[in-house]
Amino acid sequence: MKILVINTGSSSIKYQLFDMERHRILASGVAEKIGEDISILTHWNVSANGEDFKKVEEGVIADHHEGMDRILSLLIDPEHGVVGDKSEISAVGHRVVHGGETFHSPTIIDESVIAAIKENIPLAPLHNPSNLMGIEVAGAIFPDSPQVAVFDTAFHQTIPMESYLYAIPFELYEKHRIRRYGFHGTSHAYVAERAAEYLRRPLGELNLITIHLGNGASMAALKNGISVDTTMGMTPLAGLVMGTRSGDIDPALTFFLADQLRMSVKEIDDLLNKDSGLKGICGSNDMREVIRKKDAGDDRAEIALKLYCYRIKKYIGAYFAALGSLNAIIFTAGIGENSPYIREHCCQGLHKLGIKIDAERNKKSGKEIREISLASSEVRILVVPTNEELEIAQETEKVIEKIL
Ligand code: AMP
Repeated sequence: MKILVINTGSSSIKYQLFDMERHRILASGVAEKIGEDISILTHWNVSANGEDFKKVEEGVIADHHEGMDRILSLLIDPEHGVVGDKSEISAVGHRVVHGGETFHSPTIIDESVIAAIKENIPLAPLHNPSNLMGIEVAGAIFPDSPQVAVFDTAFHQTIPMESYLYAIPFELYEKHRIRRYGFHGTSHAYVAERAAEYLRRPLGELNLITIHLGNGASMAALKNGISVDTTMGMTPLAGLVMGTRSGDIDPALTFFLADQLRMSVKEIDDLLNKDSGLKGICGSNDMREVIRKKDAGDDRAEIALKLYCYRIKKYIGAYFAALGSLNAIIFTAGIGENSPYIREHCCQGLHKLGIKIDAERNKKSGKEIREISLASSEVRILVVPTNEELEIAQETEKVIEKIL
């Protein structure tokens, strides 16, 4: 079975085609700057003779429909393509950012699902409209393949009310569904499943803290394998310090910015989402650059890193308390998988909680799941490479197997 996974942004389509039987990627790529003067389509696939085929096309891609058409042409290219005909693509799995309280699991897309995703647009005004556009375009281009929506928020729908409710008038929750939702659900779910396999324990018996540190960053507390708390909130702005997002702040700070500095809502939104986090403190949002600057003696970079790790450490303590006992901590995503420095500083001084990192094991790099705790550490510490696209493909497969 071949499944195409699509992540549609306002001016981009990211895609991966999976061969589900052999658990391998057949093709991947991204169409970027759609609708701009020059669009770029970067494509890779493994050709019939097993060799890599790479292509970068520059030119105008007027809209998402044209972008998807061009992607399909590359997939079915008679010389280099990986499928003979589009009918070989059994299903299309879509990443959808916000499922609100409507969606607790991946869902086959029909008119009522589209209507419900539309209803959730106020909760994710930047993302859900693009995701819907992807659904519409894929529906037109692959009319015979079922489409499945996999929601970033769904995994956290198990969070109990005491951790998802904000202490503001209850009517705001009742009428407008203002509450914590959490994001990165496919990543937290994927790494938790892989960790359970690695630890040779059923996921349902494990208490875990999963730490996703990419450009966006979030943590989740999993009790018996189920999400009971997470750092992002109604939007992805809450929680950890991120590349350009502030994470947790005093909400009254926004009144100060508006009243004293005369900033508009849009300006405050941009400030907190695009100009804060690591970038706000030291001018760079790329962790590799921040670490390079710190190594070169930059004080701002040093304090940015301290703040970054301190926030994570504080949440490890909070989630340990929420869970009562802890089997493992899992680091994942670009920074979590690749930065020994960050992992070390997040775990430093937590011996009393049974969290002991092994400095040597932590330094080793790799693409496989690996353990970086000392043998004497009660809490196992793992690095688990995430694969959100594969998780979406697997969830899509599970959903369509029920209807085939
Ligand atoms: P992601 O959003 O998961 O692709 O993660 C992007 C982040 O990972 C960026 O801040 C990168 O600087 C960071 N990153 C990637 N490789 C490394 C590395 N070797 N050391 C530190 N940070 C890294």
